[in-house]
Amino acid sequence: MRREPDIDLSPTVSDAVKFTTCYMCACRCGIKVHLRDGQVRHIEGNRNHPVNKGVLCGKGASGIMQHYSPARLRKPLKRVGERGKSAFVEIEWDEALAIATQWLSAIRRSDPKKLAFFTGRDQSQSLTGWWASEFGTPNFAAHGGFCSVNIAAAGLYTIGGAFWEFGEPDWDRTKYFMLFGVAEDHDSNPIKAGLAKLKARGAKIVSVNPIRTGYSAIADEWIGIRPGTDGLFVLALIHELLHADKIDLDFLVRYANAHWLVVQSPGAADHGLFARDADGEPLAWDAREKALVKAGSVDIAPAVVGEFALADGRKAVPVFQLVAARYMDARYSPAAVAARCGVSADAIRRIAAELAETAFEQTIELDVEWTDWAGRKHDKVVGRPVAMHAMRGVSAHSNGFHTCRAIHLLQALLGAIDCPGGFRFKAPFPQAIPPTQKPAGKSVSANAPLGGAPLGFPMGPEDLLVEPDGTPIRIDKAFSWEAPLAIHGMMHMVIANAWRGDPYPIDTLFMYMANMAWNSSMNTARVIDMLTDKDADGGYKIPHFIYSDAYFSETVAYADLVLPDTTYLERWDCISMLDRAIGSADGPADAIRQPIVPPDRDVRAFQTVLLDLGARLGLRGMTDEDGSPKYPGGYSDYIVNHQRAPGVGPLAGWRGEKGEAYGRGAVNPKQLEAYVDNECFWRHELAPEQKFYKFANRRYLEFAADMGFVRSAAPIVIQLYSEPLQKFRLAAEGHGPIQPPDDLRQRVKAAFDPLPFWRPPLEEQRVDRSVYPLHALTQRPMIMYHSWGSQNAWQRQILGRNKLYVATTTARMLGLADGDWVRAFSHNGAIKVQIKTMDGVNSDTVWTWNAVGKRSGAWMLAPDAPEARKGFLLNHLISEHLPRLTEGRRLSNSDPITGQAAWFDLRVRIEKCGPGDETTQPQFAKLPRPPGLGPPPSVHRRGAAFARRSR
Ligand code: SF4
Repeated sequence: MRREPDIDLSPTVSDAVKFTTCYMCACRCGIKVHLRDGQVRHIEGNRNHPVNKGVLCGKGASGIMQHYSPARLRKPLKRVGERGKSAFVEIEWDEALAIATQWLSAIRRSDPKKLAFFTGRDQSQSLTGWWASEFGTPNFAAHGGFCSVNIAAAGLYTIGGAFWEFGEPDWDRTKYFMLFGVAEDHDSNPIKAGLAKLKARGAKIVSVNPIRTGYSAIADEWIGIRPGTDGLFVLALIHELLHADKIDLDFLVRYANAHWLVVQSPGAADHGLFARDADGEPLAWDAREKALVKAGSVDIAPAVVGEFALADGRKAVPVFQLVAARYMDARYSPAAVAARCGVSADAIRRIAAELAETAFEQTIELDVEWTDWAGRKHDKVVGRPVAMHAMRGVSAHSNGFHTCRAIHLLQALLGAIDCPGGFRFKAPFPQAIPPTQKPAGKSVSANAPLGGAPLGFPMGPEDLLVEPDGTPIRIDKAFSWEAPLAIHGMMHMVIANAWRGDPYPIDTLFMYMANMAWNSSMNTARVIDMLTDKDADGGYKIPHFIYSDAYFSETVAYADLVLPDTTYLERWDCISMLDRAIGSADGPADAIRQPIVPPDRDVRAFQTVLLDLGARLGLRGMTDEDGSPKYPGGYSDYIVNHQRAPGVGPLAGWRGEKGEAYGRGAVNPKQLEAYVDNECFWRHELAPEQKFYKFANRRYLEFAADMGFVRSAAPIVIQLYSEPLQKFRLAAEGHGPIQPPDDLRQRVKAAFDPLPFWRPPLEEQRVDRSVYPLHALTQRPMIMYHSWGSQNAWQRQILGRNKLYVATTTARMLGLADGDWVRAFSHNGAIKVQIKTMDGVNSDTVWTWNAVGKRSGAWMLAPDAPEARKGFLLNHLISEHLPRLTEGRRLSNSDPITGQAAWFDLRVRIEKCGPGDETTQPQFAKLPRPPGLGPPPSVHRRGAAFARRSR
């Protein structure tokens, strides 16, 4: 008899398993980390986790190589030579913290604004923002202004939430899903799993994107739109729906401000504002009673068209009339926009018809009883099964804010917001429109906290952070007339402004996880120059630069003091409802990270270091009355014991002395243990009656108020027409005590339209399009997350270099063949790269993968690694400033409303290179490695020893 070979089909791979949260991208999936002999051996997805339900992507699995990266910093470093030379000595933590405390306390004693504290893709912004506020500087933000603030701001000023972390498509019910400008990076696992569900159910996926990769490649229909024209395309869809009378008018008057009356008095200070009664309540016209009524009254028959006289004789029209008048105009017809968008008029008409057919002929009705904000009972929820999602492709343009608003207008016209089959909010959203928190920083005092959070939501010019003469208060000029609604700050302008001393010089630049000397800056070479530039007296123009990173990134070499961070598997962390939570449409959730292994280097978690520095500086929130540290146990101590409001702390789960409460409750000393016992996350399932129409759902709103998500259970009314925008426009027209400087009046007036509109991106308006005929874009690859991934030994085996992708037809016209080397020129510079031809790209567009190119010597890669010699950054072509039209104010290359970095506006031309060296340009001097790091390994292996032991 033949014996089966003795094979262990399920070998034990580990002797311990710990749960935590992935940090290989921003999705925050739950993971199980397998340990063998105290070493990380294997990572798998947590099947019970609400974000990924067991799915683990290649990035997540590669976390092992991130954790064991040879580029990990090992000890604090102090600069002893010139910046940029990695001329450091290793120092002890006590010395490092003493230096930082000395610099920072001197600033705090004189002018706290002289500290610019900016973080990159960190997930602890509720801590870092609070720290800045306690320190007293308004100069704080994270990388949102560089990334997708247009998405966030447009959503928060229109529907009370936005795409990605604020909401999600109803993956289980959507029948028609439109993606706008979504590459494979953001919300990675949830979108992939969601698309799989749509595919399985036969729902239609339409991807609007100049580039057909990733999600666009598996879409049922790819719209290869010209970059920067998405807004025009969406407004043409709206034009078609309005002409076909395919809109949900009932939704618009129940849940939006379609019927609110807008004062019509051109030239007057109240023109375009809502007509309000003596209580300040917006008014509507009741067509049945033929009378003015409070717009929020129940059981009225509000007019949506017409002109009505107010009590004082002024005229007013409903918002919907303005909407119809604008978008039914022929300039938004498919025929009028087709050529500009690169999408045929027939395709636009067909997609509009498909949207209407899905929304209104394939309606979903769920037998779910619910009660609206006014107490009216409903026996079902009605769904319009059209969902949308948008990301950086529409956001990173200087017209992105209005494009995102246009998408929300389209959703509202279809009645497809927070309903079955539509886009649905994730708690803590929706919130008041806009959220009630104002940016703090109008007055900054020595040795005093800021008096509020540095970032917030202006409602009008009175909330701007400007001096009486209009000078920006913040170093990045966020919340100034150059970017009034810069709710995520303008990180891309910090170094340039600080270097120029515009609006003032700073003393210390303090950054965390922000690779500003490489892929996180526009105009990288200039940023390097600025970091190393000196005054006449020989001192650096930016005198002090403190930087914290876990790895030897390009930026480390430019710091004066380096505070080495841990990896994500070595620390406590908190994915907080106060920050960027991980809930779903069916319920709020948050999570933690726990240390899986202790650090084997002399490194400390940045969050713990920040709290330590806060205590050394004597910051109010971080010291007890006797001056001792309030959180001596570091970040985990803070996570458990900090209260932002009574009973509200970083974590919502297991609050109360015995862990009996959630949301609000006393501090629970065993809260972290409870999270660890529950696989490091907490989740609350909403009752069926709370899950839809959250903006008007009494039971949900009461719950949200109890939890502290919103201040009251008042209904949240979708703002098709935005009064805050009109207030800024009125100021630009000369009304009110706070007005823009004269040279910005026209810009503000044009940008702050209370209804969405489209205009060409600003760079396109300022360069000669015949000289720079092509758009140039970047995308992040599915396999990587910013520059971390492209140093990861497993991930870089998949993509170790990048090429410039050019449409096959365009290449042919330019006399280029696949593999040719070209120079790409912009108004800002030139690069030399190799091209790859492809069919799935808009013919006016070239593009490449983001952040693959590396500086020679950095990240402990070999000096001649393909990332350094063949890889490249498009960033060298992008300027942080717009091309000059006239002398005078130098404007940032940003959306004029939100300050979003407009790096997708880039225009280029490409020319074939003659034969020669096949190395990308520009090249920079090799970065010497700092002390403590050995020579780069030629091969970086993990796991072979485990396999041998298993045999
Ligand atoms: S999607 Fe992001 S968070 Fe989730 S497993 Fe992949 S890398 Fe980790």
